[in-house]
Amino acid sequence: QSPTPYYYTTRDEARLLLRRRERFSNKGTFGHALLLVGSYGKVGAGVLAARACLRSGVGLLTVQVPRCGYGILQTAVPEVICRPDVHERLLTGPSEVEGPALADYAAVGIGPGIGKAPETARFLREVLTNCRKPAVVDADALNLLAAQRDLMGLLPENSILTPHPKEFERLTQRWQNDYDKLEILRDFAQRKQVIVVLKGAHTAIALPNGDVHFNSTGNPGMSTGGTGDVLTGVLTALLAQGYDPVEAAVLGVFAHGHAGDLAAEQRGETGLIASDVTDSLRWSW
Ligand code: AMP
Ligand code: MG
Repeated sequence: QSPTPYYYTTRDEARLLLRRRERFSNKGTFGHALLLVGSYGKVGAGVLAARACLRSGVGLLTVQVPRCGYGILQTAVPEVICRPDVHERLLTGPSEVEGPALADYAAVGIGPGIGKAPETARFLREVLTNCRKPAVVDADALNLLAAQRDLMGLLPENSILTPHPKEFERLTQRWQNDYDKLEILRDFAQRKQVIVVLKGAHTAIALPNGDVHFNSTGNPGMSTGGTGDVLTGVLTALLAQGYDPVEAAVLGVFAHGHAGDLAAEQRGETGLIASDVTDSLRWSW
């Protein structure tokens, strides 16, 4: 029992969370995830999240992108089922092909590259209302939550929010110092009953019970566009496989940072790009 609410994810602890892959399995065993990602000019964010999700053990992955992302996604990631939105440039909800209802997916991740259009905000509302299980909420989905506060009340309990510091400030308030920031973080996770992954060096994961888990992996090479989108894919894959949301957050953040460290060994921190993190994902350490 820790005398403080603070924990540090070591390699051994992360290893204990990692599940062995059942030998008599099939893709149904590992869940069907849905990623809601991309807008005109930011389809790449969706590609990054999708590839990372596949590299993190998901059984099957459907990705909804605006129509303009259809060819891009199918070419870049042939392993996914693509659900093109009826809108050319934005995510708005209705898709050109019918698919399972939101609640029938094992996990839903939303945010990378989606932009902040009102049509997309309406879709986010529908997703949070209908998905009926913890979701991964990132990037512009967080900015939309910050702009329309009532959306926050729709977040399924134990959803995983993955803000970088600027996104977290928009959701909450400006802080005076790091201690202040930590208290704002703990308070937010407790009040909203969600898991908040505040990203950065030693990413802090705040839980609904007030505990905070600091991560031990990662490096400044990861301060480059797209690495957060990769994390969204990783976390969505873990939820789809049935990890509980707290375990998914702690394990996923560790594995993502570990991949960043392996990538930095290959490239040096300066040469690292987000796809390298995905390509370096290694689910043993
Ligand atoms: P985003 O800002 O959404 O693209 O997310 C950036 C990702 O890179 C997060 O997972 C951060 O934790 C990680 N990251 C950024 N800078 C650092 C750093 N200096 N040390 C470790 N991880 C970092
Ligand atoms: Mg981001």
